[in-house]
Amino acid sequence: EYQEEEIDESHFVTRPPVVTIMGHVDHGKTTLLDKIRSSKVASGEAGGITQHISAYTIKQNNQKITFVDTPGHAAFSEMRARGADVTDIVIIVVAADDGVMPQTEEVISHAKASGCPIIVAVNKMDKETANMDMVKAQMAERDMTPVDWGGDIEFIGVSARTGMGIDDLLENILLQSEILELKADPSAKAKAVVVESSLEKGRGPVATVIVQNGTLRVGDNVVCDTTYGRVKAITNDLGKPVKELTLSETGSILGLNEVPGAGTIMVGQDSEKEAREIANRRAEHVRAKELSKSTK
Ligand code: GDP
Repeated sequence: EYQEEEIDESHFVTRPPVVTIMGHVDHGKTTLLDKIRSSKVASGEAGGITQHISAYTIKQNNQKITFVDTPGHAAFSEMRARGADVTDIVIIVVAADDGVMPQTEEVISHAKASGCPIIVAVNKMDKETANMDMVKAQMAERDMTPVDWGGDIEFIGVSARTGMGIDDLLENILLQSEILELKADPSAKAKAVVVESSLEKGRGPVATVIVQNGTLRVGDNVVCDTTYGRVKAITNDLGKPVKELTLSETGSILGLNEVPGAGTIMVGQDSEKEAREIANRRAEHVRAKELSKSTK
């Protein structure tokens, strides 16, 4: 249903990777996401980096990496089902003391199904009971054999608590990203995926997006599933107002007429009229479908 623009590769540039961290509950996904952010974003730069957010971009050796939080696996599947494959690389977090747990197994199958390169972050290596070899053995049994055991999965020992190993992990992400040769066109019409959305008092519908192609600017007319609008303001991941978001960058968009669903795709349009017409046509289509269901 989403029309693909004609692709002109002459404007392609390397785009930063978008990374998702998954893992069994309590294995340290949230702590790791927060630690990466706080260790890479200059304190003071981000008024409140203590606040957990759904997506952010950091720089490692002057190269950008965007991390996206998946609020529960349901949302992740939902995004996939809608065709919004935001993730380029999957990190599976396994606690070095606990090892593979039921949700780790689930995550392994999600990650494999995604077709993305996988990196295993063996977390809580600061603990005395940490056992990297146990984790490697358990993962190898599940067809996730470590590189140093002759397989093709990188295992990186980290501590989300102390920050140990995080640079290693980030370097590894950049290596995988290089192999992927991620490319996109910053001059194309904006295309961004919604990773979170809400209706905020005094601000109206707010959509947090990651830009997949093109550049999204204040003043752009956009359509997003059955919603549309003119981008009134953009706030970046540091909470600061910005004029635009480009490849793999993330921020919150104000100006839509309604709250779009997570996983929907925002696409730039030439005019507000065009955006409105497309959104209305889709809304009509949805209504017709629901009507035919209820009369069956
Ligand atoms: P999540 O459910 O995967 O998001 O896990 P959390 O990030 O909430 O972490 C679960 C618990 O493990 C919390 O009490 C964390 O403080 C603790 N934790 C997370 N990472 C580490 C680590 O590297 N070392 C230690 N010792 N504890 C950790």
